[in-house]
Amino acid sequence: MDLTFSEEQEMIRRMAREFAQDKLAPGVAERDRTGTVAREQIKELAQLGFCGIFAPPEYGGSGLDSISYVLAIEELSRVDASVGVIISVTNSLAGYPILTFGTDEQKRKFLTPLAKGEKLGAFCLTEPGAGSDAAAQSTVAVRDGDYYRVTGAKHFVTSGKYADLYVTTVVTDKTKGTKGTSSLVIEKNSPGLTVGPAEHKLGIRGSDTHAIIFDDCQVPVANLLGKEGEGMKVALSALDSGRMGIGAQALGIAQGALDASLQYVHQRQQFGQPLKNFQAIQFKLADMEMRIQAARLLLWQAALKKDRGERFTKESAMAKLFCSETAMWVTNQAVQIHGGYGFTTEYPVERSMRDAKITEIYEGTSEIQRLVIAAGLLAEWARAHG
Ligand SMILES: Cc1cc2nc3c(=O)[nH]c(=O)nc-3n(C[C@H](O)[C@H](O)[C@H](O)COP(=O)(O)OP(=O)(O)OC[C@H]3O[C@@H](n4cnc5c(N)ncnc54)[C@H](O)[C@@H]3O)c2cc1C
Repeated sequence: MDLTFSEEQEMIRRMAREFAQDKLAPGVAERDRTGTVAREQIKELAQLGFCGIFAPPEYGGSGLDSISYVLAIEELSRVDASVGVIISVTNSLAGYPILTFGTDEQKRKFLTPLAKGEKLGAFCLTEPGAGSDAAAQSTVAVRDGDYYRVTGAKHFVTSGKYADLYVTTVVTDKTKGTKGTSSLVIEKNSPGLTVGPAEHKLGIRGSDTHAIIFDDCQVPVANLLGKEGEGMKVALSALDSGRMGIGAQALGIAQGALDASLQYVHQRQQFGQPLKNFQAIQFKLADMEMRIQAARLLLWQAALKKDRGERFTKESAMAKLFCSETAMWVTNQAVQIHGGYGFTTEYPVERSMRDAKITEIYEGTSEIQRLVIAAGLLAEWARAHG
C-alpha cells in the first residue's frame, strides 16, 4: 500500500486543518450548546472546494480522490464533527450518486450548484419503519405524466432544514421488492414537501436533523437518478462512499480527543507532578495513539481501493466500524484522563464523547457493518473456491 501523498492531497489536508483551527474552533462549543449550524463557515468551505470534492471541474468541483476526501473530513471533524458530517453528506450521499448515476443534464442542474456550494445536499433513505432494514421502504412515487407524485415520510435527515435538494429513495413498484425502488432528486421548493421539527440530539448538535414529509409531492420524471428499479443500488452505492466519510469523521473526533488529552496531561498537576509522569496515564495515551493509527490505515485502505476502481464495500464497512468504535473508546479514555473536568463543558472531550456515539449508528449501525463485512468475506471465499 503506497502511503505517499501527492502535493494535492497534502494541500487539502493542510487547508482543512488551518480552516478548522482558524474558523471552526472559535465557535464550536457555542454552536454545540445552542444547536446552531455553522452556515457561514460551510459557505466558506464551499468556496474553497470542499462541497465538490469528487465532482469534476466541468461540474464546478475539485475533481479530487477519496484519500483527499477522508483527509479533509478527518481534519474538519478533529475540531467540529457537525461540520464534518454536513460536508460528508453533501459530497457522498448527495453529490456522489448524482455524479455516478446522473445524466449530463442532471449533473449540470444538480451537481454543479452542490459542488459550487450554491446548494446543500441531503439524503433521504431512513423512514419510521425502515432503519437498518432499509429495504422496507414505504414512501411511494406514482407516475403521473411527466411527474411522479410522492407520498410518505423520511426520518432523521441530516441537513434536513438547510438542504436545497434531497436524494430520496422511493417505491415505484410495490410488487418488486427492492427492485421496485427508485431514486429521485427532490428539490426543497417542490410542491407538497415540508420539513418537520428538529430532533434534539445527544451529539453533533451543530448539524440539523429533521423529518421530511412528502404529501402528494410533485417531482419531474427528469429527476429520476439511473433507471426505475435502481433505487436501492443508488442508495447502497452512496452509502459505500458515505461510510468512508463517517469513518473519517469518527477518526477526527478521536484525534481531537487525543490532542486535548496530550495538552491536559502537561498542564494538570497531581501529587506534585504533571499527569504525564504517571505510567497509567501513559498507557492510556499509548493505546489511544495505537488504535487511532490502526483505524486510519483501515480507512486509507478503503479509500485507495475505491480510487483504484476496486470493490470496496467490505473495506468501507470495516473502516467505518473500526473508526467509530475507536472514537467511542478513545473519547471515553480522554474523559477519564481529564477527571472531573472532563465531565464538564469546560473542556472539549465531553462533546467529543457525545459526538462519537452517532458514528456507531448512522449510515448503518455497527451490527449492520458486521453483517456487510461478513457478507463480503463469504462472497470472496465463494469466488475463490468456485
Ligand atoms: C443524527 C442522525 C442523523 C441521521 N442522518 C440520516 C440521513 O441523513 N439520512 C438517512 O436516510 N438516515 C439518517 N439517519 C438514520 C440512521 O441511518 C438510522 O438511525 C440507522 O441506520 C439505524 O436505524 P434505526 O434508527 O431505525 O435503528 P433500528 O434499525 O431500529 O436498530 C435498532 C437496533 O437493532 C439493531 N439491529 C437492527 N437490525 C439488526 C439485525 N438484522 N441484526 C442485528 N442487529 C440489528 C441495530 O444495530 C440497533 O442496535 C440519521 C440518524 C441520526 C440519529
